[in-house]
Amino acid sequence: MPWPTARDHEVFDLIDREVDRQNSGLQLIASENFTSPAVIEATGSVLTNKYSEGYPGKRYYGGNVVVDDIEDIARDRVKALFGAEHANVQPHSGANANMGVYLALLEAGDTVLGLSLDHGGHLTHGSPVNFSGRIYNFVSYGLTGSDQRIDFDQMRDLALEHKPKLIVAGATAYPRIIDPEKVRTIADEAGAMVLFDAAHIAGLIAGGAHPNPVPYSDVVTFTTHKTLRGPRGGCILSTAEHAAAIDKAIFPGLQGGPLEHAIAGKAVAFGEASQPEFRDYAAGIVANAAALAEALAGEGFRLVSGGTDNHLLLVDLRSFDEDLTGKEAQAVLDEAGITLNKNTIPDDPRSPFVTSGVRIGTAGVTTQGMGTEDMATIAGFIARTLRSRTDPAEIAAVKHDVGTLCAKFPVYS
Ligand SMILES: *Cc1c(COP(=O)(O)O)cnc(C)c1O
Repeated sequence: MPWPTARDHEVFDLIDREVDRQNSGLQLIASENFTSPAVIEATGSVLTNKYSEGYPGKRYYGGNVVVDDIEDIARDRVKALFGAEHANVQPHSGANANMGVYLALLEAGDTVLGLSLDHGGHLTHGSPVNFSGRIYNFVSYGLTGSDQRIDFDQMRDLALEHKPKLIVAGATAYPRIIDPEKVRTIADEAGAMVLFDAAHIAGLIAGGAHPNPVPYSDVVTFTTHKTLRGPRGGCILSTAEHAAAIDKAIFPGLQGGPLEHAIAGKAVAFGEASQPEFRDYAAGIVANAAALAEALAGEGFRLVSGGTDNHLLLVDLRSFDEDLTGKEAQAVLDEAGITLNKNTIPDDPRSPFVTSGVRIGTAGVTTQGMGTEDMATIAGFIARTLRSRTDPAEIAAVKHDVGTLCAKFPVYS
């Protein structure tokens, strides 16, 4: 074999360090999770060697007998999991999945409705710095000023005024259930199609903790690596009507060869998500988020919308400390072994690089096996760190306590 025999320490020592970092600190980034060893095994397999442009049974290269079966299993499992007529499991990411949908359903310049970025929408929902905002005419709806929920009255008014071809629902930083039936009703009134971007909540839907948008949407996209707990990647579900256009948009429209090792990982994850235990997992994520929200409120933090009914919370830091920014909170919590991200809150007076909030998710810690009582402990760690943020000894003490908690719930051996 022509392969080097010496281990590449430069890279693998760093991977070892990352395993240690994931094991020993609190991973609270709402878009992250821990994949199972089976998902990691499939993703790290020889399938990475194979070129398979096209779809099962219609490939451009030979040698795809095995890969065809794998991609078929992935498609069949995800269709069964969500009750969808069609699935495309090839998108390399959530952003690519959305790009594929736009390419399939829209022409350049078409009008689309999406949730504004500063109220929790995603870059691919029409941000001017993203291809979506540059190619299509996005009009943004937002949250109500009163209860900070999706403003469906505004969505309806804008839909009737602008007659969009497509309404995009879904969010990247929104702690509440988005009612897919309400979106459908408005879209029908305005003659629009519906894309429900379930990137964050796909696992909650699969586990029965959130309503399934598939019956109310023309297309549903999601990432496979957030609450669904699969490998990094994207997926598109659609009605049979849009199947051919979606497949053509992903390949040859915008991607080349699919990542069949990632597709095998997706197939394994879809299988895991269809087990009865995954329902307990999804319910556990939501229960943990609620417990964490309550405990943080008890420490003096205001929560956007007053709480959560999914896997994430958006914390407005100003009620805790007027001078504390999201940027500073993220940095000091990192020092204490608590990983989360700064995030703008609705109508944030600070810039997206500074922010007045942080976003916290419970998908990872729930995978680890932590429960509601551990969420109270975590809220205490967060409050202690932020209160003592100029005191290195106290930050070190929290880091030690974080390590003790995480040692009780090891992720990877
Ligand atoms: C995360 C996310 C995406 C993009 O997923 P990537 O895999 O990072 O490209 C798209 N839409 C929403 C709502 C998201 O939260």
